[in-house]
Amino acid sequence: MITRMSTLFLRTLREDPADAEVPSHKLLVRAGYVRRIAPGIYSWLPLGLRVLRKIEEIVREEMNAIGAQEIHFPALLPKEPYDATNRWTEYGPNLFRLKDRKGGDYLLGPTHEELFALTVKGEYSSYKDYPVMLYQIQTKYRDEERPRAGILRGREFVMKDSYSFDLDDEGLAASYQLHRDAYIRIFDRVGLRYVIVAATSGAMGGSASEEFLAESETGEDTFVRSTESGFAANVEAVVTPAPPAEPIEGKAAAEVHHTPNTPTIETLVDFLNANTDRKFTAADTLKNVLVKTRQPGSPDWELLAVGLPGDREVDMKRLEASLEPAEVALLEEADFAANPFLVKGYIGPKALQDNGVRYLVDPRVVSGTAWVTGADKGDHHVVDLLCGRDFTPDGTIEAAEVREGDPSPDGRGTLVAARGIEIGHIFQLGRKYADAFSLDALGQDGKPKRITMGSYGVGVSRLVAAIAEQSHDEVGLVWPREVAPADVHVVIAGKDESIRERGEAIAAELDAAGVQVVLDDRTVSPGVKFADSELIGVPTVLVVGKGLTRGVVEVRDRRSGDRAEVEADNAVQHLIDVVRG
Ligand code: ATP
Ligand code: MG
Repeated sequence: MITRMSTLFLRTLREDPADAEVPSHKLLVRAGYVRRIAPGIYSWLPLGLRVLRKIEEIVREEMNAIGAQEIHFPALLPKEPYDATNRWTEYGPNLFRLKDRKGGDYLLGPTHEELFALTVKGEYSSYKDYPVMLYQIQTKYRDEERPRAGILRGREFVMKDSYSFDLDDEGLAASYQLHRDAYIRIFDRVGLRYVIVAATSGAMGGSASEEFLAESETGEDTFVRSTESGFAANVEAVVTPAPPAEPIEGKAAAEVHHTPNTPTIETLVDFLNANTDRKFTAADTLKNVLVKTRQPGSPDWELLAVGLPGDREVDMKRLEASLEPAEVALLEEADFAANPFLVKGYIGPKALQDNGVRYLVDPRVVSGTAWVTGADKGDHHVVDLLCGRDFTPDGTIEAAEVREGDPSPDGRGTLVAARGIEIGHIFQLGRKYADAFSLDALGQDGKPKRITMGSYGVGVSRLVAAIAEQSHDEVGLVWPREVAPADVHVVIAGKDESIRERGEAIAAELDAAGVQVVLDDRTVSPGVKFADSELIGVPTVLVVGKGLTRGVVEVRDRRSGDRAEVEADNAVQHLIDVVRG
């Protein structure tokens, strides 16, 4: 079927939408691919739906190719399975919860581990049934705190989620590898530049985990990679290499100093360097940052102190990832007022521990290291406070920012940072969900064997935006051929009947040859048609216009901008060759 611009349900916009900040959002709205319904909730118009469906089809083909079987769950789900795993509560405010007319609790599925585990339990019972991999391509709901960038972070979005069920760890590792390979094929096919990075497993729980990030300045994820090795990780997953512990014996005794007007690290270091005969840097100070945390479902906030070298800031995303599923918030004035032992700018480990505040430190704060830190009264600091002698933290936490130039955790090279958009996530869940539902297979020996699971997601609707983010220019979208809404955009550029007839004829021949054609058969000016063709971003544009008097038409490559005249009589074959590559 030829898509005719004269009847296509499409109105392109010349102006960027007021709420759009990133290029994909601006262009997908302007080119009439999506329309906003509410924050983070979008409708798909014909061209957008085509791209979405093409991506879905690629994902489906690659999932089928590794032997995963497609099923489909409802998005509207009862509470009980999510209660069994505690996710009804743990998922927190991101979960859309609702009631039916009888007062029963329901939710809109944010991810479906529970349902898949229960379904497998319902159908399978013997070791002979395993392994199995199931998937769906389905609408997910998350009441994201900050829906962003159009369909990049929606509150309703399309995800491919799959789940593997194996009898043992080796089986799980093999299912994981199959998915990893399938994801590489998927993201290669949709034409993205991406990296695979070590990840944390988030609210799903579990161990081995990697993310696929599309490289993009506008991405919300920061990842680092080593200058020397293959190490790459989401900053949230970077494990700080801890220096070896030092002996305690023979270290100088801690000493409190009067340090007037030194509420910041900088003022403190300057004061010490001016008033002692030692040389201090910010990295010699121990900064104690106070936050409060709240466990899901609990009404109460709890104080938490994070101790880290004074030359580093707390990275809230890393802190949140470390504390998940607990909520984290900064302290307000009222919290300080309620806890007068917290002397702002001069907080030290002693008051924290005397008052029962949980105290976690950066992994660099190891036993035997000496620190300059707050002495819990205004204008006073303590020097040579020794970890393991003068204070004992309750544990360590990954909360400090990761910086370019930091040593790579694998000991080879230093780290460089870049940003990306998370397009896929694979991880080995292990037995968390199988335990919750007693998902067992009867083994060969007649004993029940607990199943181990993997969980794997692709952001299908997000991919549309991620591709647009990487593939556009100042005038419009530039789709990679595999996902483009059409193969060829034929522009009838002229009023003459002969031009129109020839354009129609070429479009019909292409269509008959299985080439997807958008035909601009409108009565608007060629300039408007060219601008729309550039905005819409079909990879090949055929201009049928005045050149016909010389027997030629023009073929334009949307990406390179290259233009070539070809004989009108050869145009169809030429385009078929271009499209088939
Ligand atoms: P993010 O960190 O971006 O919120 P996530 O860790 O919550 O992602 P998963 O739960 O692993 O993501 O979901 C699998 C995939 O679904 C992600 O890799 C991402 O591509 C996509 N995805 C997640 N949340 C959204 C959203 N709000 N809008 C669109 N796609 C999303
Ligand atoms: Mg999320």
